[in-house]
Amino acid sequence: MKNRDNISDLAHQRGIGVFGGTFNPIHVGHLVMAEEVYNYHHLSKVLFIPAYIPPHKSTTDLVDAHHRYQMVQEAISRNENFEVSDFEIKRKVRSYTIDTVNELLNLYGKDCEVFLIMGADSLNELVLWKDIKKLSELCHFVIVNRPGYSTDVSGSLADVIGKDKVLDMERLEVQISPIGISSTDIRKRLREGADVSGLVPPCVEVYIGKHGLYSPARA
Ligand code: ATP
Repeated sequence: MKNRDNISDLAHQRGIGVFGGTFNPIHVGHLVMAEEVYNYHHLSKVLFIPAYIPPHKSTTDLVDAHHRYQMVQEAISRNENFEVSDFEIKRKVRSYTIDTVNELLNLYGKDCEVFLIMGADSLNELVLWKDIKKLSELCHFVIVNRPGYSTDVSGSLADVIGKDKVLDMERLEVQISPIGISSTDIRKRLREGADVSGLVPPCVEVYIGKHGLYSPARA
């Protein structure tokens, strides 16, 4: 299990990608978007941070945090540019990104540039995030397109974070070939006993089967 002491020193030299999510379970879409952002912005690495309790999502279908962490770890194990962190899981409280980013900046130093990676669906709720104005001053937001969601930054979010930040987001946006994969759909398929190959990495599929996650009995 990687901890903060194992996190590469490269984070001090170039920007670090921070990819928070529920990862319930991690899927191929997550991996592709992280890779695309890593390459596009020449990041030192991407740090996947599974949430303990996501503040803006239903938790009815949420499997235990240690399973979600393990699935991320297995999924990224062959990619030396990716790491997983248990920052949020260890805190054992509702996972607010502002707390995580503050912790990262304490760890790496205030000069570290944090690029927060998120799908376009997150834009709708971003204005509701805890201390969003402060968060916007601490890190960059990298929006990745997602089928069915606009990447347009306007409305109340733009009013709160300000014009310069909106321009920064537009400049940093990463367009990928749209990926119509979601954890919700994967959980539904698993409950129905349908195939999920190609949607999650094979090691994650094996992990899910071995631990009986998302089985009809848990639905
Ligand atoms: P769920 O279906 O349970 O809501 P999810 O598939 O959205 O889950 P999360 O773990 O909640 O997965 O997502 C973490 C981050 O990855 C979020 O910022 C989300 O917007 C983004 N993301 C997930 N899937 C995609 C995708 N297919 N395309 C673009 N962004 C995505």
